[in-house]
Amino acid sequence: MTIGLEPLPAPITGGIRLKALLGNRLGLIGVIMLTLAVAVAIFAPLLAPTDPYEPVRVSIDDIYAEPSSAHLLGTDDAGKDVLSALVYGSRVSLIVGFSAAFISLLIGGTIGLVAGYFGRALGNFLMRVTDFFLVIPDLALQIVIVAIVGQSLRNIIIVIGALGWTTTARLVRAQTLSVKERKFVFRARALGAGDFHILRRHIVPQVLPLMVANTVLVISLAILSESTLAFIGLGDPTVISWGQMLNFAFARGAVSAGAWWALIPPGLAIVWVVLATTLLGNALEELLNPRLGRHHLEPEPSPPAPLAVKSAPSDAALSIRDLRVEFGDEEAPLVAVDGVSVDIRRGEAVGIVGESGCGKTTMMLGALRLLAPGGRVTAGEVLYEGEDIVRMGADDLRKLRWAELSVVFQGAMNALNPVRTIGDQIEEAIRLHDESASPRAAEARARELLELVGMPGDRVDAYAHELSGGMRQRAMIALALACDPVVVVADEPTTALDVMVQAQIMALLVSLQRRLGMAVALITHDLGLVAESCDRIVVMYGGIVAEQGSVSEVFANPQHPYTKLLLEAFPDVDDTDKALVSIPGAPPRLDDLPPGCRFAPRCPAAFGRCQVERPPAYVVASGSEVACFLVDPARPKEAADA
Ligand code: SF4
Repeated sequence: MTIGLEPLPAPITGGIRLKALLGNRLGLIGVIMLTLAVAVAIFAPLLAPTDPYEPVRVSIDDIYAEPSSAHLLGTDDAGKDVLSALVYGSRVSLIVGFSAAFISLLIGGTIGLVAGYFGRALGNFLMRVTDFFLVIPDLALQIVIVAIVGQSLRNIIIVIGALGWTTTARLVRAQTLSVKERKFVFRARALGAGDFHILRRHIVPQVLPLMVANTVLVISLAILSESTLAFIGLGDPTVISWGQMLNFAFARGAVSAGAWWALIPPGLAIVWVVLATTLLGNALEELLNPRLGRHHLEPEPSPPAPLAVKSAPSDAALSIRDLRVEFGDEEAPLVAVDGVSVDIRRGEAVGIVGESGCGKTTMMLGALRLLAPGGRVTAGEVLYEGEDIVRMGADDLRKLRWAELSVVFQGAMNALNPVRTIGDQIEEAIRLHDESASPRAAEARARELLELVGMPGDRVDAYAHELSGGMRQRAMIALALACDPVVVVADEPTTALDVMVQAQIMALLVSLQRRLGMAVALITHDLGLVAESCDRIVVMYGGIVAEQGSVSEVFANPQHPYTKLLLEAFPDVDDTDKALVSIPGAPPRLDDLPPGCRFAPRCPAAFGRCQVERPPAYVVASGSEVACFLVDPARPKEAADA
């Protein structure tokens, strides 16, 4: 299985954000308009000609007096200066807008994060609650509650905030669902990080900018809500807000008096702030909404019942025994890996090859319990130090991951968190598994690791997007080595790199494997890499192991027809005249597996038995295991010769 992802956008730092926002014309207009409104609110005592809260003596001529040099926007029904009320009113409207939006952010953000991250029953329950609040008209509920709890400004803020979180919750949930499927979260889980750590360090930083963008939009809704409540007489009577001004003007004869100045300015002020926050919110959302690719994370399936399987060899670092991985419906599962047994011995490099869809990555992700949702190990064992990973508790598994078993993911751009520096991510891995490591020691170790993989130590401060493809992959390798693992799974570590960089990365991986004595499981399509770098080879086809043995034996004397065809399709630098052949057909679909040998439909040597019976793994004279009836020692000699 190949994990293919859209490249993640480069991290948007504060400077880049501001620059991009100012480059967005509508966003810039929103910033200017909102800044003006906030400035007016802050400097109201300096800007307002009079204090509208101060009692004044008025005559009948002062009521709804037309705009004049004494009162630029005329007076209201109490003979007070409309401009002053407008300036002071901005304070109430903005306080309500910002405070209520903050409450909505807290409630909606928390619900969205929990529902998106934990999903399943809790997520569904929270989303049903959200749907319930979504279908109830906000305004009707606000009117009822404010009428019951009282019209104080504090109550109005709480009611608007507590009822305005639904869109935030849905947005945050959707983003959390996307972000948690990114490879860097997958990698953090593989590091052994717990849920809270992943949420705090990896999910929230990615979701927060969108929450902020959404909050700006919620501010405008909150201001509108407050204005509406005030307009219908449910505003706080002790404060002046724009909605309150409109309420007084309508209720106290401004329309019949033709006092447009008592109506239009507060109406325009509301439009001004709502328009400013909407423009700014939309621009922020446009700027901050990353194009999130898809990659699935591990569900926690219930472990299969223990099976009686043969024990692992004594020198095995990781022993996969009769592993079966299924996807989809439990009643009619798709079997992606079927009864695979592979041993990765201490200090050796094992190349796992085969066409796409043959189960290479699924086998290793299944072994590490990092399968996509819907995927589950239904049989077999994965033994590490005598412990079965398949049945291991979550805490033990977290301790094991990365400290003992780490992964070099393909596509480092996706596997590295784009908003955190390389050093930060390496230090995270170190400190997750060594709580006594001080930040200084972890940073020193991160520098050391970068130097070990041929990068300058000061690149600890670099972000993934600041590195070339080769450097990113080196950083990914440094990350995989952070805790001195015993086994490293390298999942197509040179995919998408050019040939020269591929060679450098592989040379690096091989030299590190030999220097550090770790075991490496190299998942690749490249037989050349396996020939140069590995001690043993595992050839997978249709979710089973077709052949496995030492690289020298399998390359010199392949036994399985599929292995032979793979090698024939592989160019040989020593034999430039070699005619390359492609293997006709394609690997079987998981929902349409052949009843007998999985390779039979494409096999040039297939015979009757192959169509109905699945070949077991035969151990041949060289020590290789070959799943093909051609090497069945019980096969009649004349048939074998034929
Ligand atoms: S068992 Fe039969 S079909 Fe399968 S690889 Fe061997 S010869 Fe071909």
